[in-house]
Amino acid sequence: KTRVYRFGNKTADGNSKMKNLLGGKGANLAEMSAIGIPVPPGFTITTEVCTEYNELGKESVIELIREEVEQSVANIESQMGTAFGDKENPLLISVRSGARVSMPGMMDTVLNLGMNDEVVLGLAKRTNNEQFAWDSYRRFIQMYGGVVLGMKPESKDDIDPFEEIMEHLKHKRDIQLDTEFTIQDLQDLVYDFKDAVKKRTGHDFPTDPWDQLWGAIMAVFNSWNGDRAVYYRNMNGYPADWGTAVNVQAMVYGNMGDNSGTGVCFTRDAGTGENVFNGEYLINAQGEDVVAGVRTPQQITKLGSKRWAELAKIEEEDRRENYPSLEELKPPIFKELNEYQDILEKHYRDMQDMEFTIQDGKLWILQTRNGKRTGAAMVKIAMDLLKEGMINEKEALLLVEPNKLDELLHPIFDPNALKRSNIIAQGLPASPGAATGKIVFFADEAKKYKHSILVRIETSPEDLEGMNIAKGILTARGGMTSHAAVVARGIGKCCISGAGALNINYKTRTLKVGDQEFHDGDWISLNGTTGNIIEGKVATMEPELSGEFAELMKLADKYGEIKVRTNADTPKDAKVARNFGAQGIGLTRTEHMFFEMDRIKAMREMILANTVKGRKHALEELLPMQREDFEGIFEAMQGHSVTIRLLDPPLHEFVPHQLATQKELAEDMHISLQAVKNKVAELEEFNPMLGHRGCRLGNTYPEITEMQTRAIIEAALNLKERGIICKPEIMIPLVGTVKEFEAQEEIVRRTANAIFEERNDKIEYLVGTMIEVPRAALIADLIAEKADFFSFGTNDLTQMTFGYSRDDAGKFLPIYIEKGILKVDPFEVIDQEGVGQLIKLGTQRGRATKPNLKVGICGEHGGEPSSVEFCYNTGMDYVSCSPFRVPIARLVSAQAAI
Ligand code: PEP
Ligand code: MG
Repeated sequence: KTRVYRFGNKTADGNSKMKNLLGGKGANLAEMSAIGIPVPPGFTITTEVCTEYNELGKESVIELIREEVEQSVANIESQMGTAFGDKENPLLISVRSGARVSMPGMMDTVLNLGMNDEVVLGLAKRTNNEQFAWDSYRRFIQMYGGVVLGMKPESKDDIDPFEEIMEHLKHKRDIQLDTEFTIQDLQDLVYDFKDAVKKRTGHDFPTDPWDQLWGAIMAVFNSWNGDRAVYYRNMNGYPADWGTAVNVQAMVYGNMGDNSGTGVCFTRDAGTGENVFNGEYLINAQGEDVVAGVRTPQQITKLGSKRWAELAKIEEEDRRENYPSLEELKPPIFKELNEYQDILEKHYRDMQDMEFTIQDGKLWILQTRNGKRTGAAMVKIAMDLLKEGMINEKEALLLVEPNKLDELLHPIFDPNALKRSNIIAQGLPASPGAATGKIVFFADEAKKYKHSILVRIETSPEDLEGMNIAKGILTARGGMTSHAAVVARGIGKCCISGAGALNINYKTRTLKVGDQEFHDGDWISLNGTTGNIIEGKVATMEPELSGEFAELMKLADKYGEIKVRTNADTPKDAKVARNFGAQGIGLTRTEHMFFEMDRIKAMREMILANTVKGRKHALEELLPMQREDFEGIFEAMQGHSVTIRLLDPPLHEFVPHQLATQKELAEDMHISLQAVKNKVAELEEFNPMLGHRGCRLGNTYPEITEMQTRAIIEAALNLKERGIICKPEIMIPLVGTVKEFEAQEEIVRRTANAIFEERNDKIEYLVGTMIEVPRAALIADLIAEKADFFSFGTNDLTQMTFGYSRDDAGKFLPIYIEKGILKVDPFEVIDQEGVGQLIKLGTQRGRATKPNLKVGICGEHGGEPSSVEFCYNTGMDYVSCSPFRVPIARLVSAQAAI
């Protein structure tokens, strides 16, 4: 079996289809090389070797790949005309990770590997640039030390041990920038760095290039199981056995003087999706300088440069002189780069995110990948590529990541509130959207407030978790491709980067802007679309869903087969969902209507009543309220099917548990406080979720079912009088035996018939059941003899199949996921292996009795992409999900059918 794949010199062993084996980066390097893009030669160690490493350990894996790696290094040597570890003409290499999907900042990279005290002299001589050689050496020790030898800050208040040494020297020499170091300084730094390594690790810094290489390869494999990588994997549901590949490649240098440079570019705008080539570069710098945000990068195109200068309020003359675009500064290089970006986008038929380096006037492309983008850009790019004829309708639909649509559906700032707001500073609009929250200065404190804004000088991969929790991210340093910007766009979080006017002090936890001062806990707001930083809290509002989004949704409906309904409990939710394109309601939880102030009282009286008469009296009060709600919901749904579920939750959820409210209730009902207390105690259950709830309520208190049926049927009749036809679907919850269903159905039908007689009018309606008790799935063939429809309540079905209490699972599920006992939260993603069997079986048995039985799902899973796909494959008629997930489900419905 081949474990090492080579590329370079316009040939390659692999190609872009081999992402699982070579990782995204490795597969693309191979592909690029094969289509004639100038890629520095190298090789990729497969992801399978990472898995072998986890199983067999370091020594055995080295033996497995030693020969292939040695031959591949020799191959690079012959292509570059240099030799690894050679004193005269040394080959230096980079080592990078590369999983099958890009994980920004998650995995580690080592540059300039192969360097030691002798090689540095050779490099200096060959390039005729001593400064550069020593600078490369110093960078190498720093990166290798950090990534491979664990030389990192010991606590969050600490600074990086190497940075500390550099700061110390800068202070001593009274200089500001890294570029001001002299050769002697760099030599001192190398010495001090090595000394620091020896002191902290107890070992000499490795001088043998081969030791360095094996160390770096193993560090990449290790980083796959590092905290950050594991967190990111869990967040995205990527399994641990994917592993990462290792890419080893000849170094090319962007820091060889003014005829060298490095940059990052996108074939389209990753924020808006606009079809403009854009990016940033730095002259005389190495790759990480651009993303680290230490120096402010310049724009690649003239257009981009002008837009940037406008935002930064820089005069045209100043711009041309001090911040020229690459297009202006190096026209031939720009022309070549522009050609490659075009070739690459057409080749991959998607927006590309590329890294390049110019070494002494020669352009090298270091990598390309499908670019991360905001939800808005994702939709625009998909529809634009379709219109440009680069992709077809199905491909356009597949280019859209369902969960990312979410970003487009969430609030933006209310323009009126925005007019009155006070802008305190501006930064780069790194990731669009609106965010408002309380300031926190440390990522691990993001959860301190319900709405927090993470304010940092710059972010690092360690901050990922906090960035995910915060509502928005604000950094003082860094460009549009800084870590904060790239990550924020990836997770769809509003972000402003590079706001230079901010003065952040971590020690005192203050943010100063001019003479204004903000503290931890103060409200600020970010407009990620304009880059405006706003004082205080700014009201937000729902976004408009038109333009490309509407086009996309129309396309989704053209291909989608499984219908998408919504879970909505109020006329307002129903309207929102209808605007999002819901084709009906799959679940109205009637109990949610009872929680409003005036209703809860009547509800409590009903529950506390000791006699049927007392209960009926309270129910009469509730009837008109329910009826009114149902009318509103039917109206909002404009004739689409509406499923209404009868009362489900344990009654004790409605009674007051606090003394004050208990007293109030006692007074209202003219009974003693003790009587209220007794009743509350009586309703207490050991396992409420398995207790007196669902159809067990309706079967013990039939008058509740009667009242609810009356409210539903009368509402439908009232609407009929107004010319709106609706066909209610009355749903019985928590059925486990046929008799349970029959008893409820009998009440529903009897009540309905009575109303039809009273009103001398009729409507059509269905009586169906939820399948949420495992027993119901098992006897689905018998239930289907009676029920008109099935709706899988996968929340309860998951709870009862796993035996995990929905209310208590939060205590152990996160630990289970962290330990890998479960891959994902089964209450979020359908457990296809277990719960899924009951769903399939229930559907099959139900339809064996009634071939046309209408089947749907209304548990929380109904809007989760992989679960929607599963429901489609099971042959369900519809999924039902919360209003905000309706567009996501519509898209998945199309993707599943394609
Ligand atoms: C379910 O159990 O999946 C369901 C939809 O009902 P609820 O969440 O209200 O119990
Ligand atoms: Mg349920």
